[in-house]
Amino acid sequence: MKMSSLMPDVKEVLISSSEIQDKVRELGEIITRDYSGERLLLVGVLRGAVIVLGDLMRNIDLPCEIDFMDISSYGTGTSSSGVVRILKDLEEDITGRHVLVVEDIIDTGLTLSYLLRSLQARKPASLEICALLTKPSRRRVELDVKYLGFEVPDEFVVGYGLDYAGAYRNLPDICVLKPEVFAKA
Ligand code: 5GP
Repeated sequence: MKMSSLMPDVKEVLISSSEIQDKVRELGEIITRDYSGERLLLVGVLRGAVIVLGDLMRNIDLPCEIDFMDISSYGTGTSSSGVVRILKDLEEDITGRHVLVVEDIIDTGLTLSYLLRSLQARKPASLEICALLTKPSRRRVELDVKYLGFEVPDEFVVGYGLDYAGAYRNLPDICVLKPEVFAKA
């Protein structure tokens, strides 16, 4: 693939596009096995999870639907506060459904634990999490993540769906930005 014109802002590539693709394929195969014979509903958390959800679902060989939630956490800048507001709820009724929530990254875990409480109350047949990335050193609540891509260090990452100030989601790799990019904001 041609090098992204965004690369001059990147300090370091943490996870390359090909490593991501291999992992997503592997996760898709495991999910296909685990949910064999079932119909799966993938729930993406807007907007960061859009890219991983799109790649993941093409690696799941089962009848499968998608739905999205949009939430805003009242965090400032690059950290989350755990106070979450649902901006867009699911279109589907998830009662009795097998629901797999797909997240880009779990940091403190506060956003997802709030979301899970809301989804669990609707009585799905099952409710599990698939997260591409996790920052274990930052976790503030216990979360059982059944399908996990990679652990990353406590650094703000962008690319493959993850943004900084709305930009960089289209970088194919998971990257750390140069400090001067934040200084400019
Ligand atoms: P949590 O509630 O787990 O602390 O925060 C989760 C959300 O914060 C993620 O879905 C993501 O939107 C955002 N987030 C956390 N860490 C990062 C990061 O390193 N980079 C980016 N771009 N967003 C992050």
